[in-house]
Amino acid sequence: MISKMESVIIIGGGHNGLACAAYLAKAGRKVTVLEAAGQVGGAAATREFATGYKASCAHLLNLLDDGISKELGLASNGLSMAKSGLNTIALATDGNHLTISADRVDGGSLSGEDQAAYKEYRRFMSKYAGIIAAMHNMVPPRITQDRGDLMALGKLALKVRMLGRDDMRELLRIAGINIYDVLKENFDNPLLKGALSLDAVLGTFSGPRSNNSVFTALHRMSGNNAGAAGAASIPAGGMGAVTDALAAAAKKAGAEIRTGSPVSKILMDGMQVSGVELTGGEQISATTVVSNADPKTTIMELLGARHVEAGFARKINNIRAKGNAAKLHLALDGLPDFTGVSPDQLGERLVIAPTVEYVELAFNHCKYGEFSANPVAEITIPSIHDTALAPDGKHVLSAIVQYAPRNLGVGWNEGKGAFMEAIFNTLSAYAPDIREKTVASELLTPEDLENEFRMGGGHWHHGELSLDQFLMLRPVPGSAQYKTPVEGLYFCGAGCHPGGGVMGSAGKNAATAVLSN
Ligand SMILES: Cc1cc2nc3c(=O)[nH]c(=O)nc-3n(C[C@H](O)[C@H](O)[C@H](O)COP(=O)(O)OP(=O)(O)OC[C@H]3O[C@@H](n4cnc5c(N)ncnc54)[C@H](O)[C@@H]3O)c2cc1C
Repeated sequence: MISKMESVIIIGGGHNGLACAAYLAKAGRKVTVLEAAGQVGGAAATREFATGYKASCAHLLNLLDDGISKELGLASNGLSMAKSGLNTIALATDGNHLTISADRVDGGSLSGEDQAAYKEYRRFMSKYAGIIAAMHNMVPPRITQDRGDLMALGKLALKVRMLGRDDMRELLRIAGINIYDVLKENFDNPLLKGALSLDAVLGTFSGPRSNNSVFTALHRMSGNNAGAAGAASIPAGGMGAVTDALAAAAKKAGAEIRTGSPVSKILMDGMQVSGVELTGGEQISATTVVSNADPKTTIMELLGARHVEAGFARKINNIRAKGNAAKLHLALDGLPDFTGVSPDQLGERLVIAPTVEYVELAFNHCKYGEFSANPVAEITIPSIHDTALAPDGKHVLSAIVQYAPRNLGVGWNEGKGAFMEAIFNTLSAYAPDIREKTVASELLTPEDLENEFRMGGGHWHHGELSLDQFLMLRPVPGSAQYKTPVEGLYFCGAGCHPGGGVMGSAGKNAATAVLSN
């Protein structure tokens, strides 16, 4: 028998909200998910962007936790991969590209030294990424004298020590520098350095020479759902298949999911959360409210800063969350001809990041409120592996394009057309027929992402992913264990530990926190 006291409302049906709902419902809680949009999934939903053409904003699955997949039975709830273990093709305008896989790199004018160095780079980076992976499914310890917290901290320190003396020293050394220097120390080939540097900056407000870029590279490598650190897959049906499977698991466990239900207010009864109010005025009571919205929006807009201490509100307000990634979807009449890329390679992950200096220069623009004149891109053509995404014989190109600052100086109304032109110019240098193959397009700037998916700052991690906003510092001290200072209010989205990317861990950890309180 479930008492009213155990009812939980989850604000938002992004993949983390759905994972949280599934775990809580499995544990016997009465769960209602309220999603503003007409479908669940948030930035991981598959949507039709042109008649007959579908794509998901998040397009490559590289972080979904294997344990969560199994515990929630995602395969039996419809999730399968259209393609696993994608290689990266580092594109070159002359077609002399590199093929980068989990254990080797080939092509171009690569030296034997660089090939050997790549194996060593993967060895130590995978080992370090394993430490982050071990933290994915843990409620971060607090810095207190509590025995449990001390033991959890001790275990983390032991993991670092277990790297062995040399690797531990190297981790401590490179964690404080940047990916530009690390790549320079290890490789000569400009194309290889460019492609590897892109992994460190995707989805962040940083360039290869920025602080934290080693950490973000390691974070990206901390998933292993395709059998190797950071290996990426394309889910059949797009990323929306992951969120649909999570929704199915949550419903099977008894959760109710209501779409088209934007929450406008978190309601309080004295010092305790008492429910939520929807935009239309409907009020729903609950003793626990878990927010999949980003932490800043949750506290400053849905709750109201007056309900928390000034110091906490200030910390929340200071979360750095400047979105910088745009998403391009092209509906194609047929496959584009990327110079020197074979038909087999066209279905892999294609990247435009010809040198590490090019990536850094692309980043420079956004410091001054401008978009990159020569953008970087991560491109997939998922319809090669999954024909259901486009009409017969047609294709979808899905690309993350950087840098596109949330607050463009001239404003996105004025700047969007010019940025699209810059993107097409860049793409055309690698695929000269791309314009003529394009029959329809959609470009989502961080402003669009903020409006459509309600991501504060249009930031895919709901807050910059960096060492000062990680583990017990994410989103801010005082709520890093998912529980906020407001009785009954929790966070469960990408703005919490362990951050963004389609992984499900923040949702699972939040459920653990709710159940242990
Ligand atoms: C352009 C782009 C490309 C990306 N590419 C990748 C990729 O290739 N691989 C990868 O792993 N990750 C990628 N990501 C990151 C990934 O999509 C996000 O980190 C992830 O979606 C975060 O999941 P979430 O559930 O925490 O939040 P979200 O996906 O943001 O979902 C939050 C949900 O809450 C709802 N919501 C918010 N406020 C309210 C409210 N007041 N009332 C009701 N509902 C509300 C929203 O509508 C939304 O559905 C990408 C992100 C972007 C933007």
